[in-house]
Amino acid sequence: MTKRTDMETYRASDTPKNPDMSPCRDLSVIGLGLIGGSLLRAADAAGWKVRGATRSQATAAAARDAGFDVTSSIEDLLVGTAGDALVALAVPLPAVVDVLAMLARHAPRCRLTDVVSVKQPVAAAVARRTPQARYVGGHPMAGTSASGWSAGSATLFNGASWVVGSDEGADLEVWAQVARLALDCGAHVVPAGAAEHDAAVARVSHLPHVLAAVLASVGADGGPLAMALGAGSFTDGTRVAASAPELVRAMCEGNRDALLDAVDDALGRLGAARGSLASTGALAATLETGHRARQAFDARHDRDDTADVDLATPGVLHQLRKVGQSGGRVVALEGTRCRVVRA
Ligand code: NAP
Repeated sequence: MTKRTDMETYRASDTPKNPDMSPCRDLSVIGLGLIGGSLLRAADAAGWKVRGATRSQATAAAARDAGFDVTSSIEDLLVGTAGDALVALAVPLPAVVDVLAMLARHAPRCRLTDVVSVKQPVAAAVARRTPQARYVGGHPMAGTSASGWSAGSATLFNGASWVVGSDEGADLEVWAQVARLALDCGAHVVPAGAAEHDAAVARVSHLPHVLAAVLASVGADGGPLAMALGAGSFTDGTRVAASAPELVRAMCEGNRDALLDAVDDALGRLGAARGSLASTGALAATLETGHRARQAFDARHDRDDTADVDLATPGVLHQLRKVGQSGGRVVALEGTRCRVVRA
């Protein structure tokens, strides 16, 4: 491979080639486990030109056997990444800093996104390590409890929400490229700022992982009979406890402040349920409130209507965040026009 210098590789992005926001469809994925491997497959199936790199020879060989252009040298991938291509980090949070150090050496001004489950620590690391990178964070809300290349699938993101970072100052050209990637992979785009993303996922993703771990342990403490009787409510409630603990730790511990708020809320509600059960024997308030909350979740798309948001409009990031905050999503992108479904 002929190695290009940073200047040769990145001069192309000095003058945006895509003023109409129809983005380049070249993608370099770093980390080829469940999410990165699924991203490589899904983007390839959607017609993107994809390349990948991962840490281990074994994963790289498995991806190459499946016909992909993959290397076990992340540095080689970065050196060979063209100026308008999008680089996607799909490694666990603790590995982000090491990969950013390579990025700083070989592709400091690249177009960059990620799929990491927490957004503020990644944004802070990018600002510190590769401040010139054109970074727009992402988080596909899809997964299974399995890990690694072999667990991946081209259809993993079908119908999923894919958060695209929409904080003030976000690079709209890269925003459009990341949104295009998410839509092409079968997902819809939920625009959100990093802090509001982290607060939301603490409640709907990270707390469920903690509760699943607690529930699995409480069930196991019931002994062999309890384990023999565990059925739907136990398997549904503990499903994510089967995930790799180190991945769950990385995302939960990486979102500590927001997760503490969510844990406090849950403990308060459990405490109230416990107090009521002990004093009057009643659980009605807890169960009815939860039932209404679940019904509202099931009905979240019942009153959807559509509108357009133009990326060329001043203040568009504020408009996009409003879409996300109100439960809406972007379902299509044509030129600068986002087709938005409002909840
Ligand atoms: P995974 O299946 O365990 O895959 C992790 C990948 O990262 C592997 O390809 C691994 O390489 C690579 N990697 C690990 N440490 C590395 C290092 N120090 N340097 C370079 N590469 C390294 O994990 P995953 O579920 O795909 O998660 C990847 C990211 O997606 C995480 O940030 C996670 O928070 C996020 N995410 C996960 C889910 C989910 O449900 N699992 C959902 C949304 C987002 P080798 O295989 O070569 O060792």
